[in-house]
Amino acid sequence: MRTKVALSACPDYNPATVQSAVAKLLADLGGMSAWVKPGQTVLLKPNLLSARTPEQAVTTHPEVVRALIRMVKAVGGCPIVADSACSAIQIERVWEKTGFKAMCGEESVPLVNLEKSGSVQFNRAGVAYSVAKPVLDAALVINMPKLKTHMLTAFTNAVKNIYGTLPGFQKTMLHKQYPTPDQFCAFLATLYARVKPGLTITDAVVAMEGNGPSAGELVPLGFLAGSADGVALDAALCHILKIPLNKVTYLGLLQRAGVGTADWSQIELVGNVSLPLQRPPFRVPVTASLLNQIPIWLVRLLAPYVWIRPSFTARCVKCGLCVKACPVKALRMPEGSGPVLKPSACIGCCCCHEVCPQRAVDMTQSFLLNLRSRGKLPS
Ligand code: SF4
Ligand code: SF4
Repeated sequence: MRTKVALSACPDYNPATVQSAVAKLLADLGGMSAWVKPGQTVLLKPNLLSARTPEQAVTTHPEVVRALIRMVKAVGGCPIVADSACSAIQIERVWEKTGFKAMCGEESVPLVNLEKSGSVQFNRAGVAYSVAKPVLDAALVINMPKLKTHMLTAFTNAVKNIYGTLPGFQKTMLHKQYPTPDQFCAFLATLYARVKPGLTITDAVVAMEGNGPSAGELVPLGFLAGSADGVALDAALCHILKIPLNKVTYLGLLQRAGVGTADWSQIELVGNVSLPLQRPPFRVPVTASLLNQIPIWLVRLLAPYVWIRPSFTARCVKCGLCVKACPVKALRMPEGSGPVLKPSACIGCCCCHEVCPQRAVDMTQSFLLNLRSRGKLPS
């Protein structure tokens, strides 16, 4: 039997429109009562990357989460909402700006601070990481990503969204342990297999392409998507948006580990299936896919000539968040100045780009990578 991925038309974030689109999506996936039993704690995990308004489309729209909250309550479940932002110290500001503080207050639903709710430690080949305890304790995790491109992993949706179940600064420090896109994607696959949410609902009403996950261009796709299998959901969305699967390396790893299917022939689209199929290919950042195409030994050998680094634009307001987020202390901020980069220390992890509230961090690439991206060097 093929794995179901449902699509539901949702042209805007009007609350009534979103609620009927979510109801239709859930009906196509068997109804909410197939997932939630009365009295169960259901943790809704949106993407609350940073302190941006819902209109900036960096974070999951609160109206989509509100609709899920109401459906969980309607079948007797006890919803809670939780995420860990990319800058742990900003969490209150993130809740406020993204509209989640107001929305959860109106719905009388706990907004859980994963930075302060305990965690369970795991080990991956000698590297320790901790997953927030409420995520592991919940009877059901409903993963609620925002569909976007990503400078490091090419694409962020179901699998990448689970990175926010890691509380605190380990989210940046793990980039130091896994400095290349392939190494980082292999870790993501391990983490996703550990958490394995029961259901994923994607907000693709307004998505982001280009320099995602925080400085790309907004794309009104006008739909919600869902599946019990987040790997199948990611693979289906890549297929729909014409993103080659070899650019999203964790999907193949998860398929081989038996965690989900990334095989398009094994996926069945249901619901409003003809909706998004006519659009041109999604514009994925060149940086991630390029580094993934170059063998690791060559990356090391050519390190002085093959790099991706931040540059800082005039939009910078000298808030210092990027300096705090850098896992390898490659940034400093002398008194009265903006951030200053120590190029030899930078591992190109994009954390500074993700955390900047002003879209002031552009990721730039070396001359050799520029040649490769223009097709003037073989892959
Ligand atoms: S680049 Fe962005 S995050 Fe860094 S100091 Fe400037 S405004 Fe703050
Ligand atoms: S400067 Fe930015 S890209 Fe470089 S290591 Fe630090 S956070 Fe990552």
